[in-house]
Order: sequence, then C-alpha cells, then structure tokens
Amino acid sequence: KDVNQSWDLPEWKRTLFNNATSYGRVTSLSIQEQRRELPIFKLRQSLIKAVTENQVMIVVGDTGSGKTTQMTQYLYEEGLSRQGRIGCTQPRRVAAMSVAKRVAEEMGVRMGQEVGYTIRFEDCTSPETSIKYMTDGILQREILLDPMLENYSVIILDEAHERTIATDVLFGLLKKTVRNRPDLKLIVTSATLDAEKFSQYFFNCPIFTIPGRTFPVDVMYTKDPETDYLDAALVTVMQIHLFEPAGDILLFLTGQEEIDTACEILFERMKALGPMVPELIILPVYSALPSDMQSKIFEPAPPGGRKIVISTNIAETSVTIDGIYYVVDPGFVKQSAYDPKLGMDSLVVTPISQAQAQQRAGRAGRTGPGKCYRLYTEAAFRNEMLPNTIPEIQRTNLANTVLTLKAMGINDLLHFDFMDPPPVQTMLTALEQLYSLNALDDDGLLTRLGRRMAELPLDPALAKMLLISVDLRCSEEILTIVSMLSIPNIFYRPKEKQALADSRKAKFHQPEGDHLTLLTVFNSWKQNNYSNPWCFDHFIQARSLRRAQDIRKQLLGFMDRYNHDMVSCGKNYTQVRRAICAGFFTHTAKKDPTEGYKTLVEGTPVYIHPSSALFNKSPEWLIYHELVLTTKEYMREVTAVEPKWLVEVAPRFFRVADANKISRRKRQERIEPLYNKYELPNEWRLSRVKRNVH
Ligand code: ADP
Ligand code: MG
Repeated sequence: KDVNQSWDLPEWKRTLFNNATSYGRVTSLSIQEQRRELPIFKLRQSLIKAVTENQVMIVVGDTGSGKTTQMTQYLYEEGLSRQGRIGCTQPRRVAAMSVAKRVAEEMGVRMGQEVGYTIRFEDCTSPETSIKYMTDGILQREILLDPMLENYSVIILDEAHERTIATDVLFGLLKKTVRNRPDLKLIVTSATLDAEKFSQYFFNCPIFTIPGRTFPVDVMYTKDPETDYLDAALVTVMQIHLFEPAGDILLFLTGQEEIDTACEILFERMKALGPMVPELIILPVYSALPSDMQSKIFEPAPPGGRKIVISTNIAETSVTIDGIYYVVDPGFVKQSAYDPKLGMDSLVVTPISQAQAQQRAGRAGRTGPGKCYRLYTEAAFRNEMLPNTIPEIQRTNLANTVLTLKAMGINDLLHFDFMDPPPVQTMLTALEQLYSLNALDDDGLLTRLGRRMAELPLDPALAKMLLISVDLRCSEEILTIVSMLSIPNIFYRPKEKQALADSRKAKFHQPEGDHLTLLTVFNSWKQNNYSNPWCFDHFIQARSLRRAQDIRKQLLGFMDRYNHDMVSCGKNYTQVRRAICAGFFTHTAKKDPTEGYKTLVEGTPVYIHPSSALFNKSPEWLIYHELVLTTKEYMREVTAVEPKWLVEVAPRFFRVADANKISRRKRQERIEPLYNKYELPNEWRLSRVKRNVH
C-alpha cells in the first residue's frame, strides 16, 4: 500500500512494482529439484566427510555452484548445529538478507526461525535459529564480545576473496579462536585465484574444489576508449535487446544514483519505441534496495520478454541471478579509498581489476554460452588494469578496526597476523585519530572512553559524539541526529516540483545548521504521530524516516545496556553543537577570505552544499559531516561552531594560540591546530607504536 500511494517513486519504479507481480515464477522445477541440480549437490557426501575430518578448510567453486545456500543446509541436516549455530558471513547486507530468505524458502521455514540473518541495526534471528547469515562486520562485533564464539559450531567465512576489512580482521582473530576451540569448524570460501594463499595462511589446510558448470563466453572489447560509459552501456543494452536472441542481460554500474538514472533512461527509451518491441523488465540491484524489490530480481522474465539487471558489483559474486546470457561491463567500480588530501575516506569510481573483469564475464556463461561486452579496449584491459583488486585493508582508514582490536586486548598491531598487512602509515594515522579522540592514552592503550566507543556499533567519531552528549546532557538530541545521519536521502526533490520541495524543506531549516535541521524534521514527524501523509506534504521520504526511527531504537538499546543516561537539553542547542565538535573536530572548516571554505587540517578548498540550511549564511567556522565531490568538493550536513569549543573538546588536537607568537588576526581566532602530521616529530609517532610492541 505504501507503494501505490508513493509519489516518491519515478514511473519506471512504479511500473516495476505493479508489473512484477503480474507474472508468477514460471520455472518448471520444484524448489527441491532446483537444489539437486546445483553442482555442489553431487559432492554433498564428500563435503560432509571433509568437514568432519578437518577443522579448517578452504572451499573453492564458481559463483552459483551452491556454496552459500547449500553448505549451511547440508551441515544442518547432518546435525552439526546441535552444539551451536552455523554462522555464515557475507561482505554485503543485501547478500546476507537475500541468501537467508532463499534458504528459509528452501527449508520451508519462516524467516527468523531456524534460518535468520543479522545485519547492522537489524536482527532477524531467534533462539531457534540454527543457520545464521550475517555481514562480516556483525561477526567482527560478536567476536569482540565473545572471542571463543561459544554460540557457534561452524563458521563459514563466505566470499573471502572479496577481502573486506572485516573479513581480513576475522582471518587473524579466527585463527586464534580455532586454536583455542578444537570443536569449532572453520570454512573459508574463495574464488580459485586465492585458494592456495588462503590455505597457506590457514595452517596449510585442505582445499575442497567444486567443479563448475560453465559455458564459453565470447568476450568483446571496444575498438576505442569510450568517453561516456553510461551512454555506451545503454546503447549496448538496447542493441542486445532488439537484435540478439533470447537471454537476460546484466549490466554493471557503480552506484545507486547511476543505476536509478540508467533505469529511468532505459524505461523512457523503451516507452518511446512503443508496444511493438518485446517487453524489457528493468531491475536495479544495489545495497540500499528495499527488501520488497529484492525478490523481484530472481523472478524469470515473462515469456517473450527479457530482463535486464543493472547492478553494482554485488552481482559479481555475492548474488547469483539465473538466466543471464549477456554481460555489459563498463569496467568501473565504486570503492572507498583513503584520500590524503581530504584526510578521510571517500568513495571513488575506479577501474576494476582483471580478476574482476573475468568474474564479471563469467556471469554470462552459467546457463548457456554467453557474450560479454567490455566497454574498454583490450589494451586497457592488459595494460591499465591491475591483475587483482587491492584488499580494502590496504587502502582505507583503519580507525574503527584499530579500536576493535585494541578493545580485544590486541595492542601489538604491527605484529598482528594479517594476511596482507596494511601500510604502517595507515596504522599510525588510525592511532593518531583515536588518540586525538581520547580513545587511546599516551601509551597507545585503550581509555575508558575508548572502551565505551568500541561497544557501540558506530564509527569512532559518531560514537564519541554520542558518548560525550551524555556528559553534555543532550543525549536525546544527539541520538536522533546520529540516527538521521545514518540514512541517506531524507528529502525528496522531484524534478517538476523542485521549488515547492525546497520551500517546504526550508521551513525546517535551523539557523545553527543541518544537524539541528535533521533533528527538527524527526521531532516534527514524531509530533505528527509519525504520519505518512505528513511526510508526503513535506517532501520527506517516509521510508527513510522509519529507518532512522528503527536505528534510533536499536541504539537506545545500547545506551540502556551500558547505562548511558538519556537526557534532553530542550532548546539549549549549544550543547548539541559542542557534542558535534567533540566527535568531528577534524572536520572543521574556516571561511576563506576569497571564496568558500578551507578545511583546517589539510587546507583543502571546500564549499557549503546548496541544499544546506547555511548555504546563504556562511558562518566563520563550521563542522561538516562529510564531503562529496561533484563539480566541487561540497560539505554535506554542516553546523556553525565557535572556535573556542574546539579547544575545549579536543585539547589534544587544538590549542589556544600563544598570543606573542601570532598575528593579530590569528589572535582574534585564538586557536591554531596543534596537530599537523607533517610537522609532528617522527620519534613521537614511532614511540607511540613502539611502546605497543612487546
Ligand atoms: P554460490 O554461493 O556458490 O555462488 P549460491 O548458493 O549463492 O551459490 O546460489 C545457488 C543458486 O541459488 C543460484 O542458482 C541462485 O540463482 C539461487 N539463489 C540464490 N539466492 C536466491 C534467491 N534469493 N532467490 C532465488 N534464487 C536464489
Ligand atoms: Mg556465494
């Protein structure tokens, strides 16, 4: 019902919702027959035997061979879950949910009973749950609270070749756990390439191979580099649809916005062609996909029609969609990488690796001989793409990871048993960041505050902001703000009604900035009994607000569990702004005399986003939540602050300037950043780390 009245869906999405239910599953095989058809089925007995005889094992098999959905069930059927749960990790939320749903269906049980899943802010398990799918991030949190993983009898680290930070950290931690718990089984699944390396790392354990069932794929390259890959991709898709024999299409794009745009353009082009061309079902896949749309991607296209799945790299390995004969690969992926110029992680579109390109092509050969259209030249493939993707741990900020490891009593980070250790500099940056947040003391050991931060399922800066808000007596407000910051797209801005939408939004604007605007939106919604029509009137996405409410509830649970008081500051918003400073002081920007702002730490030019409540106000000092690069480097969610607060809340990072040494202008500011990583004496940084080396 939510869907039918939703104006917030463009036509192509509405059509999808309405049409997709009009045709049923037309597969002729029963669900149990489908299970028996999978390549892994013939190996059931030998697989069980191998698990029984080996504590640790690597399982290798092509995507779609049944590793994720079948292994858990086989082990369950053999009674391995009697002593504890069978846990299976996934690098992605969508994969954890969709796989759990599939397995519950295959077993004929209700989701959350025998089969369940846990992702951040969403726990769909019960005491009855024997097979639990979860993100690797969730298991990383669980192992922090219980290093022996007493609740589990088997852990499957699935999709390990993805090499997310959480999986890499779990590698090291689980190695220790299996030594201490001889009854715990560990299975690591991987793409063929890494299997040997994984085996060596895990005590030279056996490798179990599931032979694939793949067909040849014709790989085609473009003759010249494409200037606009999105356009090239959509043209290719239309050509396939109009001129190639039956078979579904899979197109890889980089993110939600791009995928939605592509869907819309395709939809319009199909509409323009009129009713004479065969039907094309357009299906988006990305991590923020609402669950009611997730199941649609697995439904076969109606007879005579064809479906196109437009996906992020989720469909590379984590999610398998049957019936794909054509893959269109522009050769890009969006991944997070540490940007030294900004001093933080940012999402950037980068070329994929050769291994990823091969994996993408392989998706076309699962049902029959397929075709892969690479929208780049063969020379680019050979000369410009890296052979393998760089593990996330070697390219992103590690503050969160370091905090977790410290909270587990692992202080000697330089000697932690990483499969591929992160660069020392990255580790130092993380230590410095945690030190300036007061999470670590002068010896690099966890402080009480640091311990509490590690207990919350939030990034260190958000955790700090929330904990400090208890002392600043504004935890009610900050809890709402943290929840609102955890969800994207609260405001809706339809193309035809932008001015109206903007004026409705402006009513919520607070003079202090966007954080308080978010708070005001949430509280107004609450005062209006969480009403959907109210959201509709104010151009607010009800779905997003409900999600924020849900996250708030979960975080409130953590606050209660760890006895953090919930107190309201009423309208005394100064406290709220101080708390924001306490978490995000590294995100300070100062107005630039000529134009825009400069970040305090790196001096990078940045600008207030036009959608901000402060866009026309331009206060001297502000704190931003994040930076987004479009035409310029824009600050999103900004709040005006007083420079003196910075010194109060982050004395390790800022200090009041020595009046004798500085110019009058600076003296008025009375603050200068103490922290400058290029000037920090080297011994200081190294000694901080050395002291941890025992
Ligand atoms: P692997 O982990 O080896 O890549 P999976 O166990 O994920 O393989 O997939 C096995 C089969 O189950 C695939 O053919 C896939 O299409 C099907 N499948 C997986 N999830 C779903 C789902 N949510 N709905 C329908 N089919 C699914
Ligand atoms: Mg899988």
